[in-house]
Parts: sequence; C-alpha cells; structure tokens
Amino acid sequence: MTLKYKRILLKFSGEALMGEGEFGLCASTLRKVVQQVKDLRDLGVEVGIVVGGGNIFRGAQIQGSGIARTTGDHMGMMATVINALALRDVIESMGMKAQVLSAMSIEGIATDGFNANVAKKLLSAGEVVIFAAGTGSPFFTTDTAAALRGVEIDADIVLKATKVDGIYSADPKKDPAAVRYSVLSYDQVIQQNLQVMDMTAFVLCRDHKMPIRVFDMFKDQAVIRIVKGEDEGTLVST
Ligand code: UDP
Repeated sequence: MTLKYKRILLKFSGEALMGEGEFGLCASTLRKVVQQVKDLRDLGVEVGIVVGGGNIFRGAQIQGSGIARTTGDHMGMMATVINALALRDVIESMGMKAQVLSAMSIEGIATDGFNANVAKKLLSAGEVVIFAAGTGSPFFTTDTAAALRGVEIDADIVLKATKVDGIYSADPKKDPAAVRYSVLSYDQVIQQNLQVMDMTAFVLCRDHKMPIRVFDMFKDQAVIRIVKGEDEGTLVST
C-alpha cells in the first residue's frame, strides 16, 4: 500500500491521557492511544511523538503563589517527562520498541537528550521516539516542541490530535452552523484568526512548509485514514 506520509510527528496534549479523570493518567486511555500508534507502526509509518503535560501541571497555572514562571515551566516540562515514560512502557508492553529522548536530562531516568541524528536513526529502525520535556526551555509550549521536532526529524507532517475532528469556522459545541474546513492555507489561518497551534509553533511550521493536520485521535481509524491520504480533520499547508 502506498502511504501518503512515511514519517509523522504526532502531538497530543497531556489531557488526552486523562480519560474521564481530572488529573493524571488513565490506563485504558493510554492503551487506546498506544493502539493507534501500533496501527501506524503495523503499516510501516515512522512515529515520533510529542506529548504535553497539562494532565499533571502547566507552568502558568500557579501564578501568584510565589512560584516563578520559569520554575513552573520546569515543573511543566517534568510533567511531560512523566507522560513520556508512561507512554514508552505501554508502547513496549504492546510489542513495539520505543525510546524517550528528553530535552531535560534526569539522571538514571531520562538520560538520552534530544539529538536529531539519533532520532532519525531510531525512527528509520522502526522505533517509536518520544520527545520529552518540550523544547527544554521555559515560555514555550509542547505545540512549539512538536513543530520544532517535526522540522528537525524531517517529518512529512505534524499531526495534532484534539478533542474536535478538525478546525471549524466557529466552536461547533456552541454554534450549530459551524462548518469544518477540510483544507486551509497558512495565510487563511492567520487572516481568520483560527486557533490551530500557538503562534510560535504555527509560524515555525509555516516558515518550513511543514503541513499540519488537526484531527480527533479517538475517532476510529482517523489517524490511519490520514496517513493513507484520505480526507480527515483539517489540513493546513501552503
Ligand atoms: N513547557 C515549557 N516549555 C516547553 C514545553 C512545555 O516550559 O517547550 C511547560 C509549560 O509550563 C507547559 C507545560 O510544560 O504549560 C506542559 O506543556 P503544555 O501546556 O504544552 O501541555 P499540554 O497542554 O499540551 O498538555
């Protein structure tokens, strides 16, 4: 079978791992997410993952407590490492090989730092590579990390998993007339002020002509349809 995308950068938020809970990790949700990764691997797709940390901690959430923003962001990045470690083990428990490359090294736990060359070799060898700790710098988001790692590993596309199945003209939960866009250009996203990723992440993708597809990860077969080149979610490209 011909695949449209051979190497992808999959981004999902920490909240995607929470299931029905309000905090932390849900075992069955983790397995559901990893099953999608397995479906991709079974097709031969090379999978790099950037996971958020919002199910545990976000740097901006504790303003006014005396905790400095940079410290909060360090805590947030560590939250992404927790999620990455969980993902690695679940991925391996489902018969795949996985490695965590972390922008923050934690002695004895996450010691392999990010290195694009190493990442590309691991991906070519069929390992799932999880990029932890975001960009490694405060004041950024894991969306920006996804854009950055996507460009660095020469991914064919950044796939951003969200709770809705694409980008809409208005919030579909509030406005029944909202329509889903199938394709948008980078310029249209900016002109219409559509929320795809934060601006830093978005501009990085635009400047490097990295396509972005926004989709619902829990919609059956969605990610598989995407790598096969079928219409699913919303594609943003030149
Ligand atoms: N973070 C950071 N630098 C980065 C990526 C993340 O400082 O490059 C911190 C920031 O505090 C952020 C938290 O890690 O709030 C968790 O990431 P994010 O909010 O992107 O997670 P998500 O909302 O996708 O779960």
